[in-house]
Amino acid sequence: MSRKPFIAGNWKLNNTIAEAEELIQALLPRVGAVEDVDVVVAPSYLSLAAVVDSARGSAVQVYAQNMHEKDSGAFTGEVSAPMLTEIDVHGVILGHSERRQFFGETDRALQLKVPRALEAGLIPILCVGETEEEREQGDTERRLRHQVQEGLEKVPVERLHEVVVAYEPVWAIGTGLSATAEQAQETCGFVRALVQGFDKEAGNAVRVLYGGSLKPENAAEILSQPDIDGALVGGASLDAESFAAIVEAARG
Ligand code: PEP
Repeated sequence: MSRKPFIAGNWKLNNTIAEAEELIQALLPRVGAVEDVDVVVAPSYLSLAAVVDSARGSAVQVYAQNMHEKDSGAFTGEVSAPMLTEIDVHGVILGHSERRQFFGETDRALQLKVPRALEAGLIPILCVGETEEEREQGDTERRLRHQVQEGLEKVPVERLHEVVVAYEPVWAIGTGLSATAEQAQETCGFVRALVQGFDKEAGNAVRVLYGGSLKPENAAEILSQPDIDGALVGGASLDAESFAAIVEAARG
């Protein structure tokens, strides 16, 4: 089963519109014509429209960092799928551990967000991962099983393969402490098996990403693992040179 590599840069709460513009302009000459890897950047909501416009006509896709499950209503501070598709956003990161940890994101809401994104024409990246404490207590598989099963439960089986699942151990995010290639492979393989539990073919086709302190120095080893199809990159995605080097590593 050949799966197209997928490298996504999560810019988080960084970059004003002017700075986002500067970063995409630095990225386009480096990765704008890459066709054999899905290259994604996820700026803040305010920069989305500007970055979409700058990336138009290139191979770079632009994703949001979150989305509400409802299309409209009394949900102050939220942004919906139709608002994202209106400005030609391609997809959305859902369930990032920082959303879960700091903003009360729940598996129950994700159960609605993931299928809503697909229905609206957005590719969802469903983020899952265990905390350091859960890993130490041998709870990693139980935690991942719960997150994957809840997150994908309401996705129609024929669309499951379109979801991208990012395995991001919470203890590796922004800490400089990446999982080893062996740990990342073992856990991404487990995540794939969970998707295969819904549907064997979808599990074979789904892209599983690793995320957590990925840098140009450790990218090649991690990305060469059989069940790892790409990466969700935080810190290193803010530097055009580093992000381009990770995209290059994904080309094999
Ligand atoms: C992330 O936030 O998804 C992430 C992987 O961050 P970092 O690469 O900085 O660890």
